[in-house]
Parts: sequence; structure tokens; C-alpha cells
Amino acid sequence: MDWNPVLTLFCCLAAFATGFAWNLLATWPGIRRLRRAADAHWSERARILHPYRGAASVVASYVPVSMTLALQLVAFPPMGAVAATACAGSAGAILGSFPLSRAMDPTFSWSSWRVAFRFWQHPMLVVWATVAAMPAKMGWVAWGAVALLVAWAAFVNLDPARFSMGHGRRIPTPPELEARARALAQEANAPFRGIHVVRKGSPNAWAFPVSGEIVVSEELLLRLTPAELDAILRHEMDHLREPSAMTLARIVAAQAHMVLLFAKPVVFAFGLPGLGPILLAWVLVPVGFARWARRFEARADSHAASVDSTAYATGLLKIHELGLIPAVIEGKTTHPHLYDRLLACGVKPDFDRPKPANVLTLGGILPSLAFGILVVVSLEQWLKAARLP
Ligand SMILES: [Zn+2]
Repeated sequence: MDWNPVLTLFCCLAAFATGFAWNLLATWPGIRRLRRAADAHWSERARILHPYRGAASVVASYVPVSMTLALQLVAFPPMGAVAATACAGSAGAILGSFPLSRAMDPTFSWSSWRVAFRFWQHPMLVVWATVAAMPAKMGWVAWGAVALLVAWAAFVNLDPARFSMGHGRRIPTPPELEARARALAQEANAPFRGIHVVRKGSPNAWAFPVSGEIVVSEELLLRLTPAELDAILRHEMDHLREPSAMTLARIVAAQAHMVLLFAKPVVFAFGLPGLGPILLAWVLVPVGFARWARRFEARADSHAASVDSTAYATGLLKIHELGLIPAVIEGKTTHPHLYDRLLACGVKPDFDRPKPANVLTLGGILPSLAFGILVVVSLEQWLKAARLP
């Protein structure tokens, strides 16, 4: 079909509306169920919310790229139109999850949405675009593209305060927090380089072993007692002294989707069955990593609880309760279940072990399936054309 700018505009609007509507419809029932459960125990509210959170991120990750794949199958738009459609769909999908983000975190604002798009969604689109643009053979152009993306992933891991803290906004680190963190780093003999504070509506802390940095949310400083804060920081300090192999595994697991960069060359060489090992690696790398990472979580927990296990337990409880993170989650994740972590600290929770929270709703499973089917069909089409003499 002859392409023109009006068609590009139409595709962008349609993609924006579809992304927005899909995520709104996928998350709205979660907000309603959460409102209805206003008086329930926090662990039940967290259990209700969790699969909708998962769905929101799946929709934002896969619906825009699925729409562009579908567009390329039915029409042959120029690359600019494809990229614009992907960006518009992506913006719509994140915007559609805005009410859910707002329900979980009242400080989530339009500016946090903008930062989320810039630092989280936009890099995803770059990876998908490179996957699509990969040549049939692994020549220097292909290896160059892979090297650039790997370097970019390493760069993001080197400057977490700026890149990885998606919808947090940085605020100055209080000097007494910096001093306390330095003392705890010395106690743990951890290679610590600095601590940053981000504005975020729920308390949490993250360690970045590559750069030796710790990031905490402002809410963590406001809600936790000094003893609880010390215990949580001890946990993060232990992550900073992990072996380099674990640090490398953390980066690889976080970027496991990059294995799709090899999809076109592998399919060109071995046909569609070549996609099997690629998809397997994409699924199995994070699963294997989670198994290994759990051991380091347990190690960090025991270091955190070594001085005041009750303070550590109450600190962890506040993080889960205020952030509505379930106490038990279906399947195996990188962190042991909160319920088991508390028991391991010698603290019996004041609530019964909840049923495990589901990871996804149907609104999140369907886009994943659709994405998988569209990838296979698109590759098959491309292979036919690529093998023509
Ligand atoms: Zn941890």
C-alpha cells in the first residue's frame, strides 16, 4: 500500500488509544477490588493488587511492540511510521496504568509518568527496534549492535541513581544518613560509594553492586525507626559485597530479553526451530538466576538480623505493608517470601500465612501470548523473504 503521513498519524492515534484502553481495562478491576477491600488486612490487599501490577507492566512492555508487528504484517509502512506507532502505543499503555500507580502511590504524578517513559519504556523500545533491525547474518554490523546494547546496559548499571530509579525523583541525602551508611559499610567491610534518596510514596531500599551505591526512598527515612533503618541498610550493604559473578548474573538476568537480538540470525541459519533455544534461554536465565539470588537474599537477611532481628523484621513488615508487596507470592522469585523471612529472623508474624498472590491476570497473560504468536509469524514471513535469491 502507498504510505502517507495521514496513515502514520492514524496508526499513532490508534496505537495510543489501544495501549491506553488495554492497560486501563486490565488494571481497573484491581483498583475496584482494592477499594472494596479497604478494611481487609494489608496482606490480603497486597495479594489482590499484585497480579494487576504484573499485568500493567506486561501490557506496557508487549502491547506496543505487538501492535507494530501486526502493522508490519498487514501493511508495509516505512520505519519512521513503525517507530512512531511503537512510541505512541507505549505512551498510551503507561498512561493507562496511571490510575493504578496513583492508587498504590499517591505521590505518583505526571512528572513521574514522564520519567518512567524516558528511563524505562524508551530503553525497552530501543532493544525491540534493534531486535527487528538485526541483519540475517552475524557480521560486524550485527556484533556492533549487540556490543552497543551490552555497553549501554552496563552504563545504566554504573549510574543507577540517574538511570534505574524510574519514577523516583532524587532529593539531597541528609548528612547523618550518609554518615550512618558509611559506618555500616565499614562494619560490613562493603565496597560502598554513596547513598541516594528518591521521593517515592512507599518505603524501600535498593543496592547497586556495580557502582557500590544504595538508593533509599524518602518514605523509608520517614517511616522506619533508626534501628529498623540500620537493619535494612545492613541488608543492602551485604548485597554490595557479593561476588562479582553474582553481580554479573544480576545484570545478565535483568537484560535476558536481549537474547532476542540473535533471533533473526539464528532463525536464518537454522529455520524457525532455532527460535526454541532462544525463547528457552529468555525464560530459563531469569529462573536459574532467581534460584541463585535467593541464597544471597538469605545471606543478606542473616547479616541484617545479626544485630537486632526484631528491628529488621518490623522494618521489613513496614516495607511490605506500606508498599502493598505480598507476604507470599506464587512460584519462585528472587526474594524469599516475606512470611518465611520473618520466621527465619525468629519473628512470628501477627497474621496467618496468606494464600500466595498470583503473578498475572488474564489481561496480562493474553498480551504475552499474542506477542509470542506475532513474533513467530513475523519471523516466518521475514524468513521467506530473506531466503529468496
Ligand atoms: Zn536483598
